[in-house]
Amino acid sequence: MRVIESVADIKLAARAARCDGKTIGFVPTMGFFHEGHLSLMRAARSENDLVVVSLFVNPTQFGPNEDLDRYPRDRNRDVELAMGAGTDLLFVPRAEEIYPSDDCSRVVVRRLSEKLCGASRPGHFEGVATVVAKLFNMTQPHRAYFGLKDYQQTVVIRRMVADLHLDVDIVTLPTVRESDGLALSSRNSYLSPEERRTARCLKESLELAERRIHEGDRLGDQIRGNIRERIGREKLARIDYVSVSDPQTLDEVSQITGDVVISLAVCIGETRLIDNLVVNVTS
Ligand code: AMP
Repeated sequence: MRVIESVADIKLAARAARCDGKTIGFVPTMGFFHEGHLSLMRAARSENDLVVVSLFVNPTQFGPNEDLDRYPRDRNRDVELAMGAGTDLLFVPRAEEIYPSDDCSRVVVRRLSEKLCGASRPGHFEGVATVVAKLFNMTQPHRAYFGLKDYQQTVVIRRMVADLHLDVDIVTLPTVRESDGLALSSRNSYLSPEERRTARCLKESLELAERRIHEGDRLGDQIRGNIRERIGREKLARIDYVSVSDPQTLDEVSQITGDVVISLAVCIGETRLIDNLVVNVTS
């Protein structure tokens, strides 16, 4: 595995691979790898000739009062894990090269970026779309891999790829979880033992909602209420949002007549966690 730090070098490597007729699979990440990240790398490994992983804690997707400075980092461990998962090129750019001081451009995916996490984190998806567009240009992937853990991100990126006519297939993979159901996240490292126990309520409330829908409950408000009630029992948890929405448009659903995505953002102490579940509804 080669670690590449400069934009010129990653572009050269991608161009050379394309000239040789190789397919490129790309996994964008912010590092502090766990099984969720590794599952994306392994999928990229099995489907492409060259696997490129980026490790970049993207400043533009953090708000002014968010955790950019304390976001967990462990480069040496990440290098080992990426290598073990079959990565060929680990791209670790410097922020000054991704965002030079005279940089003026941003990618805005309207509407979809304003809902759910975008409502509580203004500018977040502008930062995500911008960095992913830049990284796609640098790494020239045939396929790019994203986790469904960040469901809204996958919807925003698919929209950007369609709107900008980018030639990349977006591949999404299921959320990897701890044995008690908690979705793996680099931010789980912030949780105290008591907060970690409380964090189970995200997955539990999603499963409760899924059961209710399968039992025949069809009112969005009722389902949102069930989730709020379950999480409300936890003294360390504070709800940011609870959503039952259309899986493509992310519009809130009042009467459930087809598939829905149930999404949550909950602060456990100071740590904001997200989770979601797509529920298939046939009638
Ligand atoms: P991040 O480093 O948090 O920006 O995540 C990089 C990629 O890994 C994104 O596509 C995430 O959706 C994905 N990811 C993060 N956590 C998980 C998880 N628990 N299961 C599957 N994919 C994940």
